[in-house]
Order: sequence, then C-alpha cells, then structure tokens
Amino acid sequence: MKKILVTGGAGFLGSHLCERLLAQGHDVLCVDNYYTGSKQNIQHLLPNPRFEIMRHDVTFPLYVEVDEIYNLACPASPVHYQHDPVQTTKTSVHGAINMLGLAKRVGARILQASTSEVYGDPEIHPQQETYWGKVNPIGIRSCYDEGKRCAETLFFDYQRQHDLAIKVVRIFNTYGPRMHPNDGRVVSNFIVQALEGRDITIYGDGSQTRSFCYVDDLVEAIIRMMDTPRDFHGPVNIGNPHEFTIRELAEAVLRKVGSSSKMIFLDLPQDDPKQRRPDISLAKQKLDNWGPTIELDEGLDRTIEYFRQLRT
Ligand code: NAD
Ligand code: UDP
Ligand code: UDP
Repeated sequence: MKKILVTGGAGFLGSHLCERLLAQGHDVLCVDNYYTGSKQNIQHLLPNPRFEIMRHDVTFPLYVEVDEIYNLACPASPVHYQHDPVQTTKTSVHGAINMLGLAKRVGARILQASTSEVYGDPEIHPQQETYWGKVNPIGIRSCYDEGKRCAETLFFDYQRQHDLAIKVVRIFNTYGPRMHPNDGRVVSNFIVQALEGRDITIYGDGSQTRSFCYVDDLVEAIIRMMDTPRDFHGPVNIGNPHEFTIRELAEAVLRKVGSSSKMIFLDLPQDDPKQRRPDISLAKQKLDNWGPTIELDEGLDRTIEYFRQLRT
C-alpha cells in the first residue's frame, strides 16, 4: 500500500479521489488551504486512521514523505478563479514547482490535474491532445488557462531535465455531488436555481456546448493514469464525449426537478468557449479501455439528489 498526497483534497474532485484511494487501502494525506474546498467534503473520511489532513497553501514549500502526488489544488470555477487572479496563477505555477520539487526529492510519481481550458476557444472539434489550443493570454480567463498551461510546461521540463515520473490529464467539465453550490458552474447553478424556483440563468443564447463527465468516471480514469507505465506521460483527455448545448442542459434539469423556474438569457462572459468535446481515443487506448459509464441522465439524478439533501 502506498502513501499518497492529494493537493486540493478537500475540493469537489479531490474529496472523491481521497475516498477512492482510501477504499483501495492506501494512506492518504490531504493538503488544502480551504480556499474553495471545505472540511465538510471530507468529514466522513476523518475517522479513518489512514486519512490525514493538513491545512497548507501549495504556493509555499511542503516537506513530506510520499510515494505518489495528485496535484489538484486550484480553484476551478470562473467565479472563484477570477476572484483573486494573481493567486490563481501562483497556485498553478508556484504550486506545480513546489510539488515537482517534492516529487524530485522523494522520487514520487506525480500527476497534474490540467484542463480542457488549455485548448481555449478551440478551432478544431472535437479536441485531441495534439491540438495546441487558442488561448487569450491577457483576458479574464487567462490566469486559469495560462497558469495550467505553464504547469504542464513545468511538468514536461521536470520530466526531461530530472527524469521525473510525470502524468498529465486534461479534465473536461466534470460534475457530481460535492460541487460547491455557489461556485457558479453551470450544472450546480441550474440545479440550485431549479430547486429554489429561481430563474435559470443562461449566458448567451444557450447554443454553446459542453460535454459533462460524472465525477466517478473521472476518478477512475485518473487513478488508472497514475498506474500507467513510467514512460507514459500524457497529456490525456478525460471527459465524456457526449455533447449538449447549455440550453439542452437547462431543459433536462427543469424536467428532472419538476420545477416551474423560467429560463432567462444573460450576457455571455468574455472568452466563453463556444464548443467543447473531448476526443477520448487516447484514454481508451492507454487506460485499459477506459470510457465513461454514467451518462448525464443518471448523473444528473444523483447530483440533484445531493443538492436536495443539502437544502434539508
Ligand atoms: P474545487 O475548487 O472544488 O477544488 C480545488 C481545491 O483546491 C479546493 O479544495 C481548494 O480549497 C484547493 N486549493 C485552491 N488553491 C489552493 C492552494 N493555493 N493551496 C492548497 N489548496 C488549494 O475544484 P475541483 O472541481 O475539485 O477541481 C480540482 C482540480 O481539477 C483543479 O485543479 C481544477 O483545475 C481541475 N479541473 C476540474 C474540472 C471540473 O470540471 N471540475 C475541469 C478541469 C480541471
Ligand atoms: N520543494 C518542496 N518540497 C520538497 C522539495 C522542494 O516544496 O520536498 C520546493 C522547493 O522550495 C523549491 C521547489 O520545490 O522551491 C523546486 O524544487 P527543486 O529542487 O526543483 O528546485 P531548487 O530547490 O533547486 O530551486
Ligand atoms: N453558464 C450558463 N449559466 C450559468 C453558468 C454557466 O449559461 O449559470 C454557461 C457558461 O457561460 C458556459 C457553460 O455554461 O458557456 C459552462 O460554464 P462553466 O462555468 O460551468 O464551465 P466552463 O465555462 O469553465 O466550461
């Protein structure tokens, strides 16, 4: 059994990852500064003697002894990452340097949670890992997009320069229980609005597309990625290739919640990508025939149930 560090372990994806790694019998150290995550997300794991939490900001050095590192620390929703954009870039860049320095010192494998945002507003569709992206370097999303791109650069340079065992996954829109109810992401926004009978806020005309992956499928993929042969580094797209317009998502949520909320149409935020869908052929090939198993219909049911219980 291994000693595994999960940075951002108290966040949405991190808490599910900690849970799964503990279930596999590993020792898990969760490092988080609770910027967007919460102790509530990991409360149920605290009684487990193999689980340890540490309040720490990854922009500062960290000295611990571990076998593997999953680097997830970074606010992920536009509302949060744009709140303190300088800190967002620091978290991606300084955080990557520190975690890579740690991996180098202790000889640990290290996985970076990168993002489909490295493709920006893509000119090719669906997006393959070989596409270099179309990213605005000076816009309001740049702190996140460019921070993540620089983190990827650092990972590959540490690999070439110091022979580190790196893994990079590019995560596409993922949803599920423990998403922050106020983080402004589309799935949580629509569900909370529908449950509260408030207007459903569609940005633009709702014709932009996204492809939504359920959290359990994502966690399975990144654990498989960590276990790939040492000389395979990625990057690998992880996501569900089923693509929906934002308007279709709103209609599905309204139907499932049985809500009388109305759809309203607001301005589209600057640099909002018009379409996004992963090509997951590489993941299928390298991750033991991995593919999503939970489609939007079932995943939405589970997520709606979570938000219902949160309100009671
Ligand atoms: P989240 O905001 O729920 O989790 C991020 C966690 O990182 C939080 O617990 C937060 O407190 C912590 N954190 C932030 N800055 C930190 C710092 N400086 N030091 C220590 N901890 C810090 O978001 P999430 O959806 O769980 O995303 C996890 C990772 O996956 C992020 O790196 C994100 O960029 C990436 N990702 C997520 C998605 C998605 O759709 N959910 C898509 C692409 C990439
Ligand atoms: N670092 C860390 N934990 C460690 C080892 C290094 O946080 O166990 C940090 C260290 O502060 C340094 C960074 O990782 O700033 C990069 O480390 P590296 O060894 O690559 O660079 P150097 O120390 O030579 O600048
Ligand atoms: N969106 C929306 N209404 C909302 C929140 C988001 O129409 O209340 C849109 C947003 O403009 C984008 C899509 O939904 O086109 C996905 O947004 P999210 O912030 O969840 O993810 P990202 O833009 O990072 O893919």
